[in-house]
Amino acid sequence: MPAETEAALVRAVDSAHRHEALFSDRAANIKQSAVRDVFDISIRPGLVSLAGGSPYLRSLPLKELGDTAQQIIAEHGLEALQYGGGQGMEKLRQQICEVMAAEGITDADPADLVVTTGSQSAQDVAAKVFCNPGDVILCEDPTYVGALNTFEAYQVDVQAVAMDDDGLVPEALQQRIDELQSEGRTIKALYTIPSFNNPSGITLKASRRQVIVDICKKHNILVLEDNPYGLLRFDGKPLTPLREGNPDDVIYLGSFSKIFAPGVRLGWALVPKHLHRRFYLACEAVVLCPSPLTQMLVSAYLSDYDWLGHLETTRALYSERCSTMLSALAQHLPASATWTRPDGGFFIWVTLPEGIDTYPLLYKAIDAGVVFIPGAAFTPSDAPSNKLRLAFSAVSSEDIVTGIERLAPILQEAIAS
Ligand code: PMP
Repeated sequence: MPAETEAALVRAVDSAHRHEALFSDRAANIKQSAVRDVFDISIRPGLVSLAGGSPYLRSLPLKELGDTAQQIIAEHGLEALQYGGGQGMEKLRQQICEVMAAEGITDADPADLVVTTGSQSAQDVAAKVFCNPGDVILCEDPTYVGALNTFEAYQVDVQAVAMDDDGLVPEALQQRIDELQSEGRTIKALYTIPSFNNPSGITLKASRRQVIVDICKKHNILVLEDNPYGLLRFDGKPLTPLREGNPDDVIYLGSFSKIFAPGVRLGWALVPKHLHRRFYLACEAVVLCPSPLTQMLVSAYLSDYDWLGHLETTRALYSERCSTMLSALAQHLPASATWTRPDGGFFIWVTLPEGIDTYPLLYKAIDAGVVFIPGAAFTPSDAPSNKLRLAFSAVSSEDIVTGIERLAPILQEAIAS
């Protein structure tokens, strides 16, 4: 090893050693998401990735969007490239209210919105604003790995509540609240992905929605409704969000990542009036302001392009891919495996017989040329899991079939042994 490289290495090890003691207690809980780990692997050539929940972007009018971006800078550059307001641009907030109206929220006030750096940053702010170390956030079992990592980074005790095929089970929620409260625990929020849950694809059925909100209200628990996939229902209108009719008890999180493009890094939080100021100030403290440039691009996309038409196209595509994956699973997986049949979104959740841990199977799958996300990533306990998540959103139908054909023998062998 060259002398300078060796010296640099020694310096790095020495600094790491000295600085280890400086980390906050919180930092010990910061971990890399399993999805990001697999994301790095899944870009290897030849591999079929059923891992990443990326949206389909090829049907976007890229050339025209390029012209729009150029025009924004040429004509409004001094605003687009300058700092902006912390709450987000007024015009975009009005447009977001129209997007939410399409989702079934009829009474959103632009004044109650904060434009965020994706739904991810809104989750972070929610944990920061509401949770002390040791406080509980309830979530679905399973739930979004990014939310788990964010909440745990604030030393929140995330407790998962059972779902069945119709979503979160109200009786299980009530029972968990009773148990935790009898232990003297403080429960701050229920984090829920009611439509096309990531990772399971399961949707909370309409008749349970108000029941869930009422249970939370009764116990003074905020509902944190994360709905990035709500508009991606394959057939029929979106299910009415929990926020509708409950403006004082639900913080609603939306995102442009799945209905437009994740690269703009824009989402929003619709916050009850009495909580809005603190929430917005906390957002401002983190990012100062959401990017004016991408806000202007998204605003132009909503006003000058057929965004609902693009949504139609992608919904049809996701629906077709989902059907292809369901057929391939039916054809290739043994009868002892089961899986969900989503009405929208990006994911199918496969359950193998009890006792099988899907994590070691990932390595075999990588060797066979396919990747998935093992189920353990989606629970707070990280305990071994007999489940796995398959994403159909970003893979062609042809690759979906190839991917399942590669995966099936690995699952069959695990079941047989
Ligand atoms: N919530 C859920 C349920 C998600 O699946 C994702 C991304 N996969 C996010 C939030 C993060 O979205 P954003 O890009 O808006 O930060």
